[in-house]
Amino acid sequence: MWEQRHRFITVALWLHVPGLFLFGLLTGNPPLHALAEVAPIALCAFGAGRAHLRRAARSGVASLGLFISSAVLVHLSGGVIEAHFHFFVMVGLVSLYQDWLPFLVGIGFTVLEHGLVGVLAPDAVYNHGAAVNDPWTWAVIHAAFLLAATLPYIASWRLNEDTALRDSLTGLDNRALLLRRLERALARTRRDPSPLTVLLVDLDGFKAVNDRRGHAAGDRLLVVVGERVRAVVRDGDTVARLGGDEFAVVLEDADEEVGARIARRIIDALHEPVLVEGAALRIGASIGVASAGPTASNPDDLLRNADLAMYIAKAQGRGRFCSFETHMGDDARSRADLEAELGPAVAEGQLVLHYQPTVALDSDRIAGVEALVRWQHPERGLLPPGQFIALAEQSDVICDIGRWVLAEATRQAQAWQERFDLRRFRMAVNISARHLASDSFVGDVLAALHDAGLDPSSLVIEITESMLVEDVAASVDKLAELRRLGVRIAVDDFGTGFSSLSYLRHLPVDILKIDRSFVTGLDPDRSQDSLARAIVRIGETLALQIVAEGVESEDEKAALKQLRCQQAQGFLFARALPAPELATLLAPGLTAAGGGGGAHWHGLLPPAPTPSVSPASPTPERSPTPERPPAPGRASEPAAAPAPSVVAAAS
Ligand code: C2E
Ligand code: MG
Ligand code: MG
Repeated sequence: MWEQRHRFITVALWLHVPGLFLFGLLTGNPPLHALAEVAPIALCAFGAGRAHLRRAARSGVASLGLFISSAVLVHLSGGVIEAHFHFFVMVGLVSLYQDWLPFLVGIGFTVLEHGLVGVLAPDAVYNHGAAVNDPWTWAVIHAAFLLAATLPYIASWRLNEDTALRDSLTGLDNRALLLRRLERALARTRRDPSPLTVLLVDLDGFKAVNDRRGHAAGDRLLVVVGERVRAVVRDGDTVARLGGDEFAVVLEDADEEVGARIARRIIDALHEPVLVEGAALRIGASIGVASAGPTASNPDDLLRNADLAMYIAKAQGRGRFCSFETHMGDDARSRADLEAELGPAVAEGQLVLHYQPTVALDSDRIAGVEALVRWQHPERGLLPPGQFIALAEQSDVICDIGRWVLAEATRQAQAWQERFDLRRFRMAVNISARHLASDSFVGDVLAALHDAGLDPSSLVIEITESMLVEDVAASVDKLAELRRLGVRIAVDDFGTGFSSLSYLRHLPVDILKIDRSFVTGLDPDRSQDSLARAIVRIGETLALQIVAEGVESEDEKAALKQLRCQQAQGFLFARALPAPELATLLAPGLTAAGGGGGAHWHGLLPPAPTPSVSPASPTPERSPTPERPPAPGRASEPAAAPAPSVVAAAS
């Protein structure tokens, strides 16, 4: 921008040279005189064009040339004082530099020119007796008027800069100003080495406040957060709002340790609830701390490091801070690589499904399986979903994965039902929020059922509690539609994310899966006062089926049986297994292991002599659904299948 304006001003200056020369000739000046008058202007224009000079020198010399032009115009016109109105056009022109210096040049030039010429040839600058008699005083008076004229220019430029460099909501610096300050601070640390630390503050759960309470409340909250962060740091430190709910703090002369201390103080300062429209809102923050150093010597790198650390702080459970470490960059790169490979991996068939049985606790029979996806990565080996599902959820790749899992799982379920003559064997599939929200979701499920020829009632869709709570209306309609066709809906990890139980009453749900955290450590002697008991009772009250997740010990199993929990899943029975291994558990001839009269699972695969698994023909105790003919063939349309109402089944 500066270069562009300077070019324009220099061109204007050059145009004055022939222009004024011609004017001098036309007004009857001898050519040599005219030439001598315009020569200093040409010299200034030449200097202004020297690119190797500093900006201050170039703008100063260009301004000087313009102001000289005004004086020359008056001289060449033979002392027509009105010609000096040209000067005020020049003042406007140099205001484009948005800098003090050109104005100072103008003021200095006015004093000197009016003073000196006022003494030597008063008529060339003054036409009033008082001024002619006292040229220096009047030179200063002229300069004072010029100073007064420049002040509005400077004020308007400062105001414009304020809008361009400040965040209008909080009044804090904006990203552009932060980068500028960071650049300068880094330059200083290069000159005399001193530490410099940046904090990146990201609010936790801000979107929810915005969504639930409206944007006015969100704005108010941001203002208060800005004030509190400001109050924690020293006056000289920079606090900026980068946009949305992200703030940055630049601490000069502060190392990472000081940065960590300030981060803690910010978290504490945000702890106090914020009063907005009578409601006390609580907001937390995750903070990344990064210091300048060999890995971060420019603003972008420093902010990126702080961002990575902030991301880790969020991933570790929010409401905390995390200092940058070098490996975080590698981790992020490796994540980015994985993300890039994920899309093609789905198409290239690198995904596989493992299946974990769900067991009826009263009979130890397999009631069904849950399909759990894995990624057979060509270099990294078999990756669990924890390493790629969250990545996939950031884009529509998760929908491709969801479609593939649905197709493969329903195909497998149908194949096992046919091969082992299992009629009520259920296949559970995990669905992610993004897929559920997509327009294709219901169609994807129906297409998978149709292509596999699987009866809808053999499919269970697992969704997590938070998905139901967050985006209710649209998702509920879709789930209700599938449920009408016979598909069962399960709430996964139940008890970990709920905000209100009342939603269970209104939602199309058939099954609650008690999260592993409520199962771990259950013991038959003390099961009565466990949270698991409360969840089982909720299920009973609402006529929902209960499945316990993550059962690892006999004690846990016994306690769950005591609580009348119907089904369970867990390493005690089996881990998630590849299809062929799971098939051996379904094979006829395998019956429950004997010993002590009770049927037992012994963890992993049962070798033949004491088979520990019975083939599935489980009847979920609480589902009085009448036995149904085997699933219709491939030609049948799932929508047309005689699907019983699950509401009826559950009630
Ligand atoms: P989830 O649906 O709650 O699945 C249960 C997880 O707990 C599985 O881990 C399973 O292997 C593990 N687990 C089962 N029994 C035990 C036990 O006794 N002890 C312990 N410690 N763990 C047990 P996995 O396969 O790593 O899956 C993790 C999560 O990834 C799943 O949690 C599910 O949320 C997600 N996921 C898996 N497959 C898919 C998929 O196809 N699509 C989507 N969207 N998500 C999936
Ligand atoms: Mg699940
Ligand atoms: Mg679960």
